[in-house]
Parts: sequence; structure tokens; C-alpha cells
Amino acid sequence: MRAELEKIVGATAVDERPVRDLWPLAIMDERAGKAPPQILVVRPTGRDQVADVLRWATSNHVAVTPMGAGSGVCGALSPAAGEVVMDMGAFDRVLDIDETNLICRCEAGVNGFALEQQLNARGLTLGHYPSSLPGTTVGGLIATRSSGQESSRYGSIEDMLIGLAVVLPDGTFAAPRPGPRSAAGPALHQLLVGSEGGLGVMIGAVISLVQLLRGASRPHVAFLGRIQGTSRFSDRERHPDNELIPGVLIFRPESGLVYFNVDNVCKTILDRVSAEPALPKLVLLDLSAAPRVDLQSAQALGELAHELTAKHIQVQAVEARSSVRDRLRNEGVDTKLGGINRFRTVADAVEDFQKAAIR
Ligand SMILES: Cc1cc2nc3c(=O)[nH]c(=O)nc-3n(C[C@H](O)[C@H](O)[C@H](O)COP(=O)(O)OP(=O)(O)OC[C@H]3O[C@@H](n4cnc5c(N)ncnc54)[C@H](O)[C@@H]3O)c2cc1C
Repeated sequence: MRAELEKIVGATAVDERPVRDLWPLAIMDERAGKAPPQILVVRPTGRDQVADVLRWATSNHVAVTPMGAGSGVCGALSPAAGEVVMDMGAFDRVLDIDETNLICRCEAGVNGFALEQQLNARGLTLGHYPSSLPGTTVGGLIATRSSGQESSRYGSIEDMLIGLAVVLPDGTFAAPRPGPRSAAGPALHQLLVGSEGGLGVMIGAVISLVQLLRGASRPHVAFLGRIQGTSRFSDRERHPDNELIPGVLIFRPESGLVYFNVDNVCKTILDRVSAEPALPKLVLLDLSAAPRVDLQSAQALGELAHELTAKHIQVQAVEARSSVRDRLRNEGVDTKLGGINRFRTVADAVEDFQKAAIR
């Protein structure tokens, strides 16, 4: 069997190993000592190879399970001995991002998060954010009819899918015509949504995009200084005469923090910290101008705090609204951000820091 597969995809694109997804029962079985069987895994690099493997499998009555990133939790990827797994990892190209028609064409093995990041860099988003996004592929998202944390606003994967490129089990290639709507009954590509690899192997997809306002994906992060003779702080870009506090950098993101802008916000902060001649001792995050912090952003703020703390920089978030404080607490990141509460202001944190420095 292996030799025949190697003839189709090449020797380096076949290996043999246990394969499973993140189905809890499979994990428990493995922990209990029941290892999954060794499976032949093929990694085709093009449409013809996919078709040839499927033709070979059909004529030899061998089951083939397509594999994306393996983050499924329902055991769809639990092949039995003698079956074959088709790893779609080599189909990893984003072919085209059409900013005019708000459409993206990409291959099925593209990582969901990598795609989102490429879109965000252009002020676009897929609007699809399952919490497993970094561990998914576009093909896996479609095959599982995935839904995400933003789906009540942007829809689930089936709402943004416009067209598919699929190789059917007999090796036939099908590419239901991309279009926003089918007037002649159900659009054929929708048959594949949620098919869990049972109807064919998806090799590419056409997906609709959402345009973000430039400012929403790259919000201004004010760098604050003290207004002379007061205990108030404002943006040094507008008021360069505002005083700097030695050892302290104060940032105020001027937007709600959501999955498509939080990376830019964190990067702005980290870039500024690294550009300082000497690392600050305290980074203050004034969250008063962030009316919303979503789940991904809360986690990203936790990672930002982790990164700064590793550099021996203390991190303190202040002036967060109650809903933001709740979010940070629920995600368990409030302690990393200095244990936020409703009383502490930027001025209080600066005063405490200066008192501690004198002691
Ligand atoms: C911590 C965690 C959080 C999660 N959160 C969510 C969530 O919020 N929302 C959600 O919907 N899911 C969630 N999931 C489940 C999982 O991430 C999704 O089902 C995801 O879509 C699987 O993508 P994948 O690329 O890893 O697919 P895989 O696990 O590799 O495969 C899943 C199924 O898709 C089929 N398949 C994969 N690629 C193809 C292809 N190219 N052609 C045909 N069939 C294919 C496989 O055969 C299999 O049946 C979560 C999982 C974890 C571990």
C-alpha cells in the first residue's frame, strides 16, 4: 500500500504514524495506554495528486480521511488500521485577496489565524473567530460547519463561503461557480459544508470578507504624560510639553479592544517599550477609552503583561470600565494586570510607584 501511495505523491510525502484529533475520549484512551494504530499519512501537493490518491483508494476500497490541523473535538479524525489519512498541510497558499469585491481565494490547508492576520494587515477581517482559530485550517473550518465567537454578528462559516474547489471520491474535480447567491435552489457548495470529509476533499475556497475601518484595526494608542502642575495625564503627541515620569510609560488605547485590533495595540506598546534607552520599571495601561474588551483581547493583554513581566517590568491596568473589569477577571488576567479595581487612577498608580521608589 505504501509503495503505491509513494508512486503517486513521492516517498517523502508518505509517512506512518498514529493519527487522532482532540476528541476527549481518544485522548483518555491514549492516556490509559491504548495507542491509536499506525496510519499511512499522505501529503499531496496538488490537485492531480489528490485525485490520483482518491482514485487509487476507491478502486482498492480503502477509506481516506482528509486532515486539516487536527483540532476537531468530535473524533472525526480517528482512522482505523488499514485506512489512509490525507494531510492537507501543503495546500497553504492564500491565492488572492480582492479588496474591491471583498473576496478571498485560498487553499484549504491555510491556517485560519494566519489568514485572519493577513486580512487584518489590510484592514479586513473574515469575521470568523472560533477560539481554536490558530489551530485550524480553512478546509477544517468548512468541513465542520464551524461557528465562532463573532458569529452572531458576522455569521458562521457557511454564511461567508461563496465557492469551493473539491476533489470527489472518484477523482472528479468540482468547483461550484463562485457567486454570492444561488437562485436555482440550494447552492451546491453548501452540500460540502459540515460534510466532515465524507463527500470529498476540499482543496480551495472562495470566502467573503468584511472591511474594517482603518481606524478600527489600528486604533490610536496615546502615550501619556502629566499635564504640568496637575495630576492629570494626556496624549504627549498633542501636548509635547506634558511631563514624562521617569521609569514609567503610560499608554491609553483609544478604542474598544477586539480580536482584529488587539495585536496592533500590543505591538505599538511593545515597540515603544523596546525603543526606550532604558527599559521602564512600570507600564501603565489606562483602559478608560476602551469601552469593550473581547475574549481574545483579554487573553492578548494577559500575554502582553506576561512578556513585559519577563523583562522585569511591572504592569498595571487602571480606570477600566466595569464590563471590561468583569471580562479581565473572567479570563483570569486581572492579576497579571496588577489586580485592577474601580478606584485606582493613573495618578494614583504613578504616586504609588514614586513613593515606592523613594523607600
Ligand atoms: C480548544 C478548542 C476550541 C474550539 N473552539 C471551537 C469553536 O469555537 N467553534 C468551532 O466551530 N469549533 C471549535 N473547535 C473545534 C475545531 O477547532 C473545529 O472543528 C475546526 O474547524 C477544525 O479544523 P481543523 O482544520 O483542525 O480540522 P480537523 O480536525 O483536521 O478535521 C475536522 C474534520 O474536517 C475534515 N476536513 C479537514 N480538512 C478537510 C478538507 N480539506 N476537505 C474535506 N474535509 C476536511 C476532517 O476529515 C474532519 O472530519 C475547538 C477545538 C478546540 C480544541
